[in-house]
Amino acid sequence: MLLTGAALVTPDRLVPDGWLEVGGGRILALGAGEPPRPADLDLGGGYLAPGLIDVHSHGGGAASVIGADPAAVATVAATHRAHGTTTIVASLVSAPPASLAHDVAALAELADEGLIAGTHLEGPWLAPGRCGAHDPAALRDPDPAELDRLLALGRGTIRMVTLAPERPMGLDAVRRVVDGGAIAAIGHTDASYEQVRAAIAAGATCATHLFNAMPSMHHRAPGPIAALIEDARVTNELILDGVHVHPAAAGLAFRAAQGRVVLVSDAMSAAGVGDGAYRLGHLAVAVVDGVARLADGTIAGSTLTLDRAVRFAVEQVGVPLQAAVAAATATPADLLGLADRGRLVVGARADLVHLDARLHLQGTWVGGAPVRT
Ligand SMILES: [Zn+2]
Repeated sequence: MLLTGAALVTPDRLVPDGWLEVGGGRILALGAGEPPRPADLDLGGGYLAPGLIDVHSHGGGAASVIGADPAAVATVAATHRAHGTTTIVASLVSAPPASLAHDVAALAELADEGLIAGTHLEGPWLAPGRCGAHDPAALRDPDPAELDRLLALGRGTIRMVTLAPERPMGLDAVRRVVDGGAIAAIGHTDASYEQVRAAIAAGATCATHLFNAMPSMHHRAPGPIAALIEDARVTNELILDGVHVHPAAAGLAFRAAQGRVVLVSDAMSAAGVGDGAYRLGHLAVAVVDGVARLADGTIAGSTLTLDRAVRFAVEQVGVPLQAAVAAATATPADLLGLADRGRLVVGARADLVHLDARLHLQGTWVGGAPVRT
């Protein structure tokens, strides 16, 4: 299949008037100007970019990954796929040990099937004062035995673990997560600047939704934000839904952490559906005007999809198109260690999105096959 008629968003540059050839699920060739043979599909303008990669998502399409029901997880994946997300990591929330063990083992099978790219444990080792929409009763100190058991049940499919490193055994947990082959992410934390530096030294390489569920930056107590933004080893998640982070704060993060910002949805089940009454884990969530909140007003995940996050980055934050696309493609691919996707290069998986000139999604392909919506 030969696609023409759109600018290609490649790692080094925008290629106007590009063409791209797909075969056997891979990108076979790409270039600019006259294609080697007549096109199979003229995209008629806009941009052709890699499929979007979401490393933090709890749900969508009125379904949740929590509980690891295969049909529900398929609904979540399909909902985000219809918004250009071709690779998704399933994020669990803080829960009792037996629930986590069940979900990790069940999600491992869905990862084997290729439905998800793995599992993200957001908690339960989080700071009580920064629990956000996590059930406070489920929070606890890291227990080495429980952590090792979960990593074993995951069989390598646990991609990321979010924890508060200041909790007792927090740094030990960071090391265990990294030794277990997962990304140690700092989040839902009350850690000081120095404590976060120590966690990074122990192997943490990601910030879970930078700015949210952590102390604000103070010039005499810079806290987690300064430590996470300044360190070249750390990739910083941002939820760019217009609610979680002010565009000016997001712009600062993009400039201070160039090439180290990853756009995430942190979506809950209302993503792709609309306003109404939902649940996040055990907690009731009301979605009004697209904003998900607990009864006490706490923001409870988002209803965001990554196509909208990319558009917000460009239009509201002023991020150059290529950098905004990279934050939802190449950067999360590198974070996950997925070398076969996230960039328009020969040999990569033919996971693609077509955006019009105003960055609205026009089409999605997974392994070269069009996604029907
Ligand atoms: Zn989350």
